[in-house]
Amino acid sequence: MGKSIDFCHLLLLLLLCFLVLPQQGSSSSLFDRNKDTEETVASIKQEQDHSHEVHCSRERSRAAWKVIEEYLMPFVEQEKYQITRKCLLHAENDMFRDQEQHKVHMDINDWQCGYCKKSFRAEKFLDQHFDNRHYNLLNISQSKCLADLCGALHCDLVMDSKLRKTKCNPAAASRNRHLCESLANNCFPSNAGPSASHLHELFLRQFCDSHTCTGGKKPFSRGGKKRTSIFYLAISILTLMLVPLFYCIVYLHQMDKRKGVQDLRRISNRNKSKPS
Ligand SMILES: [Zn+2]
Repeated sequence: MGKSIDFCHLLLLLLLCFLVLPQQGSSSSLFDRNKDTEETVASIKQEQDHSHEVHCSRERSRAAWKVIEEYLMPFVEQEKYQITRKCLLHAENDMFRDQEQHKVHMDINDWQCGYCKKSFRAEKFLDQHFDNRHYNLLNISQSKCLADLCGALHCDLVMDSKLRKTKCNPAAASRNRHLCESLANNCFPSNAGPSASHLHELFLRQFCDSHTCTGGKKPFSRGGKKRTSIFYLAISILTLMLVPLFYCIVYLHQMDKRKGVQDLRRISNRNKSKPS
């Protein structure tokens, strides 16, 4: 009797298992499906968000980089100083750096995408192409925007847009000065050796001192990258070509002069030999 009860219990247990397990399975697959759908929706949403996610101006970031490259890096290289990643001026903190380095300027009206080799008539079309096709290559993990430093770095001075003479705003000037000084402190800590101290001072003179409404001081007082290249090269080549030409003319002139004197002598000798 006990055996048959045990058998019944076992049968009931098995039956319960059969009834419950598939339900659990289906519920889990349903759960998975829901999860999948949720994930897809999330990823689509993320993708949609992505296009609006980058609130960082490529143009102003480019201007900021131009300022750094032209008015800061020559001095940093001179001092053989290594800017750390902690410093916002480090190339790694420019989300557009990789894309900008993949721009190939073939000719005046020919820009090429370094990733897929597609050609464009103007830089702005290549920028659009980067935004549409290669947005996944933007370095947004750090979520740092170089354009945010434009106030401190005087980006307007290197941008093509015409400068509008606006009345100096003391609050904005003070804000920019504060940002500028914090950059100097983070990038070139005074306790990091003599090179860092020199660069700290230079940064203040070059970028921060001019953030004032009292006027007088201009940014980039220490100058920028020396533009020796083409102009000086042309002058040197011209000089090298003109010097031998000058000596050639002088030599020929001297030869003519000598020939003239010899002719005169010959004539005078002939006149002397003639009987008077
Ligand atoms: Zn491309």
